[in-house]
Amino acid sequence: MTATTVYPAHYINGQWVKAQSSETLPVHDSSTEALMATVPAGTAAEAEAAVLAARAAFDGWAALPVETRAAYLDKVAAGVKARTDDLALAIAREVGMPLKMARAVQVGGPAWHWGNFAKVARQFEWEKTVGNSLVVREAIGVVGCITPWNFPLSQITLKIAPAMVAGCTVVLKPSEIAPVNAMILAEIIHEAGLPPGVFNLVNGMGPVVGEVLATHPEVDMVSFTGSTRAGKRVGELASQSIKRVALELGGKSASVVLDDANFEAAVKGTVSACMLNSGQTCSAHTRLLVPAGRYEEVKALAQAAIAKFSVGPSLEEGSKLGPLVSASQRDRVLGFIRTGIEEGADVIAGGAEAPAIAKGYFVQPTILGIKPTDTLAQEEIFGPVLVVIPYKDEEEAVAIANSTIYGLGGAVWAGTDEHAMKVARRLRTGQVDINGGPFNGQAPFGGYKQSGNGRENGVYGFEEFLEFKAMQLKPSAS
Ligand code: NAD
Repeated sequence: MTATTVYPAHYINGQWVKAQSSETLPVHDSSTEALMATVPAGTAAEAEAAVLAARAAFDGWAALPVETRAAYLDKVAAGVKARTDDLALAIAREVGMPLKMARAVQVGGPAWHWGNFAKVARQFEWEKTVGNSLVVREAIGVVGCITPWNFPLSQITLKIAPAMVAGCTVVLKPSEIAPVNAMILAEIIHEAGLPPGVFNLVNGMGPVVGEVLATHPEVDMVSFTGSTRAGKRVGELASQSIKRVALELGGKSASVVLDDANFEAAVKGTVSACMLNSGQTCSAHTRLLVPAGRYEEVKALAQAAIAKFSVGPSLEEGSKLGPLVSASQRDRVLGFIRTGIEEGADVIAGGAEAPAIAKGYFVQPTILGIKPTDTLAQEEIFGPVLVVIPYKDEEEAVAIANSTIYGLGGAVWAGTDEHAMKVARRLRTGQVDINGGPFNGQAPFGGYKQSGNGRENGVYGFEEFLEFKAMQLKPSAS
């Protein structure tokens, strides 16, 4: 038995403030089901105290030279790197991603982004003359940040780092399911010595703490990442006070394999892009679209690719695929697999039977051959489930790829990049990987349609937190 870490406080106005309520939220190790930590269930009053602290800190923080704010971010970046072991272990346990991968993806990525946002702010063109106007960019104000559990430290970083270096002050409500990494990050930020009130963290449930952030008149902007369902609610609430709302929501991304593609690379690449983090990735390539005449070939390639994903506890050497984050997420995913089978799916690999592991929220990596009209062709599953959908020609491939309410990620595989890009331009989605092109942390990340309306990463994510101000100058009479 490992000990349970009890976090008794929220971080408000530069200090740890003991929670008002004795109610706590449990955090489970997803590989062992053990209670690994508790965080306090924040109240509306605590959320409001954090908002008011952020408001009080705003003018002074926004007025600091950019270099001063950027230097604070560099300190946080160094702190994240120094605590890589603690953060990777926490995320491997609370989310379930295998430890080695969690180190690289879940901690290495955020450490890089902290440093990169400092650079972006330093290089940014803060003012520009347009005709007789001076157009200046200014921080939008107090930002409420609401984040999910799947890449928890990344999602927090992609909001609070650009917001703070832009001159905003923030109140973070991390996911109640994976909040331990956020508590470690708050310790790092405290160590970095930011002025009180610039960064605040209140743990708690969405409808309690999150809704204060979405409604409070002293919050200027809400940046939300999570499900489309909760994003709609946040958007509705925030509209009452005309806040800016940045939404990063769900996805059902298609990997389109064209007839002239390298099928082995395409199928292997798609299986990997689907299974990362046990399929709990918003931009996961969860629909594999293939020419109907090549379906049997694809099946064999998919079976070979999936066989390499050995399922096991996140701390066990050799595990390639960890558990799902929680019992309810596992049950939801199993429900989708059963629905797919009931609707007549061709079971290419896996299924709804539990893998032979005594504890933990495990699901077998599963591949199902389906029709574009089936439930699993439309609904975000958020688990290790890939669906293969045959198409008759490129026209139909594009139509199927664009046929969901989502538009977040995607891929096109073809004999040449030109051919792939021709099809990629027709996809209504925020990102498309061309022939396995890797993720780029400087490129904009965000959704079309109901996948959201915000953009994250690099200068694109930074500008989300800025206002425009135009000062009209009277031309001098000469
Ligand atoms: P979720 O919507 O259940 O929760 C996300 C956050 O919203 C949590 O902090 C939660 O407490 C809060 N919340 C819930 N109801 C709220 C309310 N009424 N008011 C304010 N806040 C509320 O999502 P999740 O299960 O944590 O995450 C999975 C979802 O996130 C998936 O749909 C996934 O696609 C999406 N996601 C999107 C991106 C992206 O960048 N587009 C990235 C990661 C995850």
